[in-house]
Amino acid sequence: MKIIAAVSYGLSQPFSIQQLDLTGPSDEEVLVKIVAAGICHTDLVAHAGVFPIISPAVLGHEGAGVVEKIGKKVSKVKVGDHVAVSFSSCGECNSCKKNQPAYCYSFASLNFAGTRKDGPILHDSKHNPIAGSFFGQSSFASHAIAHQRNVVSVPKNIPLALIGPLGCGIQTGFGAITRSLACEPDSSILIIGGGTVGLTAVMAAVIQKCKHIILIEPYEARRRLALELGATAVINPHQQDIENEVHKILPAGVNYALDTSGVNIVMEHVFNVLAPKAVYGFVGVPQKIEQKLPGTVMQMVPAGICFKGIIEGDSDPDQSIPELIHYYEKGQLPIDKLIRTYPFEQINEAITANQLGDCIKPVLLISQ
Ligand SMILES: [Zn+2]
Ligand SMILES: [Zn+2]
Repeated sequence: MKIIAAVSYGLSQPFSIQQLDLTGPSDEEVLVKIVAAGICHTDLVAHAGVFPIISPAVLGHEGAGVVEKIGKKVSKVKVGDHVAVSFSSCGECNSCKKNQPAYCYSFASLNFAGTRKDGPILHDSKHNPIAGSFFGQSSFASHAIAHQRNVVSVPKNIPLALIGPLGCGIQTGFGAITRSLACEPDSSILIIGGGTVGLTAVMAAVIQKCKHIILIEPYEARRRLALELGATAVINPHQQDIENEVHKILPAGVNYALDTSGVNIVMEHVFNVLAPKAVYGFVGVPQKIEQKLPGTVMQMVPAGICFKGIIEGDSDPDQSIPELIHYYEKGQLPIDKLIRTYPFEQINEAITANQLGDCIKPVLLISQ
């Protein structure tokens, strides 16, 4: 079928909106008309060529839309359902069997390879293959093919523009605090970076009843929003000394830290303000691929520090997406404050606004 998609040709060129051919769903797949898709930092990392997916490629991995067609063996959703499209997982490996699909043994091949097992499903008008199946979707497009495992039905009363980002950025921030770090009531958490993941982490820390919620963020508007969302203190890393500021509030250090920034120097400062037995989580793609962990073994061992790598906030989308909607409906997860919508044609403008710090979570409005 003919679809409209934003094609990435690598960092040197803007995304280009074109007509492509999309192969129909196989037995366990679903064709989703994409109504809205969030733009996540990982799309931009892939656009820059850091991931295995090779351009030209259709990216996008926070899709939300309406099921248009289902394969013969699909039982999880039906035509007309509203769905969130999340990351892909195999369902058969040890991690998947333990409900930890974010650590699926086939995560890289299912999410970043740019093709389906039996070959590419996207082609241009000259029948050249275009890399797709990004995070099992490639949702910067009017239509996407997903496996039934990575679609989740959602209530029709919630706007699909709010649903898209649940599939990656928001479940990552929420799950990092509630599941990966499992912050306890009255504990202290230091969050690095006030983008979608960091600000959702602030909201989740409020839900977990953390006593001290400190955010490090250079943009003033994001620091202000963090305070509105329940942060107890904010630090501007360009103007304030991170270690001094944290020690003024918590002389013994913080119990938990979450890095969403990947900024090397800030990661080092945060290591120096960890309390004994602290858990330090990392979700950010580091500035440099060869980035080493902060601190030294001689500092880490005596204090019993634990480092934790976090993918998708240890979420199983079947469970986490309804949970996120539940908190949104109760008013405890006001994710609408993070989102700004853009017409699909303005994908490049939306990315620029995000990079300049003007917009926290850009969401593209694609089909009606
Ligand atoms: Zn698996
Ligand atoms: Zn993402």
